[in-house]
Amino acid sequence: MKKSIIAATTLGMFAAGSIFAQTVEIGTWAGFRKGAASFTFDDGAPSHVTDAGPMFKKYGYKATFNVVVNWNPNWSGFQGLADEGHEIASHSNTHGNNMSGEEASSKSAIEGKIKQKYGVITVAYPNCNVPNESAVLQNYIVGRICNGSWKGMADEMGKDGPSNWAQVPATMTGAEGQLKSTNDFTGRMQKVIQSNGWAAFLTHGFQGKNNGNANYSPTDINAIDGALKWAQQNDKDIWVAPMGHVAMYLKERKASKAEASSSGGNITVKLTHSIADNISKYDYPLSLKVKYDGSKAEVTQAGAKLESKIDGGYVYFDAVPNAGDIVISGGTTPPPSSSSVEPPASSSSAANPESSSSSGHHWGPWTQSSSSTTAIAADPASLAAVAVYRTADNYIEVSGAQGLEISVFNSLGHKVRETRGLGYVQKVFTGAKGMYIVKVGNRTFKTRL
Ligand SMILES: [Zn+2]
Repeated sequence: MKKSIIAATTLGMFAAGSIFAQTVEIGTWAGFRKGAASFTFDDGAPSHVTDAGPMFKKYGYKATFNVVVNWNPNWSGFQGLADEGHEIASHSNTHGNNMSGEEASSKSAIEGKIKQKYGVITVAYPNCNVPNESAVLQNYIVGRICNGSWKGMADEMGKDGPSNWAQVPATMTGAEGQLKSTNDFTGRMQKVIQSNGWAAFLTHGFQGKNNGNANYSPTDINAIDGALKWAQQNDKDIWVAPMGHVAMYLKERKASKAEASSSGGNITVKLTHSIADNISKYDYPLSLKVKYDGSKAEVTQAGAKLESKIDGGYVYFDAVPNAGDIVISGGTTPPPSSSSVEPPASSSSAANPESSSSSGHHWGPWTQSSSSTTAIAADPASLAAVAVYRTADNYIEVSGAQGLEISVFNSLGHKVRETRGLGYVQKVFTGAKGMYIVKVGNRTFKTRL
């Protein structure tokens, strides 16, 4: 999109050899899509596990499920959703009129039940009442309100997101809400495609399903099914992803600097930001495009292969800020050289007994010595949070695999991809339809494209 950030740098000509400045563009949204949409579900309904989960899986999309601790939701069912890459988030302990005082305790209570990479990073306020904002922002990257119009704002956000991350609007769906039919949902998605913005939807239970305590404003599940089908057909324009993922992307995109230079036939890109808090590592991959006149390209980051495509004189790929140099080369898979590829952080294997057992000597000729690369360490607790699934745009994606080796095998047992987990999520392979085996660290997953 033309409204994307353009980050370019002109390097001096003092270095040895020829170095040319390159232009890097960061996509407004993942995959250079034009708009973003997040589906959120409140109150931890049984139907979220039994009906919403399979529906989202059918289309390859992920949602956010906001559970109420004291309503004792189907924890193993919601863990199953987390294991498929969905976000499990807070909707307080008690669902009182105002959740003030439960900001930190509901987060830790859910984290005690649900294993996911960063734990609980977003919250939806019960009864739409904003609690203590500073307590929210100390614990969450998003505090979600209800309809923006209720607070005198628009329901949809622009490309720069909300004016206040403790008041992120979402439009109510169902009987008491503004969005009832598939056309209502697709109308909002078309609107953010036009505006390069972000729309979030707030759904409780579904008409005629087992909703437990989520009996307010039931929504016709077929309306959402139709919305997801439309989104998949328009996936090049609309990015459907959980609240926390879109928030991470947006915050990183606004804070990141991308600098590229070319030398000796390779292009090197440095992608960095300095945002930091105690909630997220802000390592959601950003989508980049770099001017490129070759017909084939091999893109790596810190030596790990990235999925890429060439289109219209650009090479497109997703890379993780602060995760090491990105190198674009001519596509014949040259062995990484010590000058262009930084070794993985030595702390990676030391910090993770499970991954050290298969420590990556076959990744490249580097040694586990000095490195300026940011540590990419997987801690043992996070191993439980690895998820492997197909995306709507037909990639195999992994989440929660930072620092782990990833191999993809086809149904004949041939290894078709070898890389290493870099960020919160990572596209690792796309290819012919069929069943694939994905090895992440010492765990094995089966998935179908
Ligand atoms: Zn609620």
